[in-house]
Amino acid sequence: MIKNLIMSSILALSMNSISYVYTPHGSGVLVQVHDELSSFQIASYNSYTDSNFPLATRIASSTNHYNCHSYAWYSQNINTNIYWMENPSLYYADSSYHEISYNQVQPRDRICYFDENNYNIHSGMVLWLTGEVQNPVCGYSNTVMVQSKWGNKGLYQHKGDYCPYVSTYNGEASYVKFYRLNETHTHSFSYTCMNDIYHYEICSCGTLLFQHNFELNIVHPNINNPSYIPEYVCKDCGFMALNPSV
Ligand SMILES: [Zn+2]
Ligand SMILES: [Zn+2]
Repeated sequence: MIKNLIMSSILALSMNSISYVYTPHGSGVLVQVHDELSSFQIASYNSYTDSNFPLATRIASSTNHYNCHSYAWYSQNINTNIYWMENPSLYYADSSYHEISYNQVQPRDRICYFDENNYNIHSGMVLWLTGEVQNPVCGYSNTVMVQSKWGNKGLYQHKGDYCPYVSTYNGEASYVKFYRLNETHTHSFSYTCMNDIYHYEICSCGTLLFQHNFELNIVHPNINNPSYIPEYVCKDCGFMALNPSV
């Protein structure tokens, strides 16, 4: 009886936390909602990963709300994405996305890291090409800069071969593949502020986070004027700052 009670409450808990999101071609992909980390865990995960990957830039904090696959395939809006996705393979198995070769890759294509059993262990968004030739670390991963979420750790901007998923850092990935949304369209960008450092650059094919593009905007242009105010405005999203940190 007690055992049944315990089992049914566990089931109720896990049932409540399961949902589906849909690929562009309508396949349902299983996602879960996890309880958030404690603030202590968030702080210690952030500092642990930051110190182990000093050449990567953390864009957002550790969180249980979304993982790499959910970020790359479901939604790059980190304020609203609360889904954890274990297996994104339907996004390419149902032809919503198609594989492209490394020499066709462009920003906003997806990069997936596969292990020796051909299981996709990590996904990310391609930011730009590094111009490097392939090195021995993990397929063509070093030829791109990537924006990706590291499990329940932070969202990072990193070179493709500089992350916890490759052999250099005891990861299991042995090669990467690249995928592109299976529709031809002309990018149409809009911008939304994320915080005082980053804004979203949004297109229907994917969203990337970039640092604000500040330019000086002097409200009262005469420096001898007592109300002279040098302020900075992002040319893209319009965010204003007096002392921008970027
Ligand atoms: Zn686009
Ligand atoms: Zn901006």
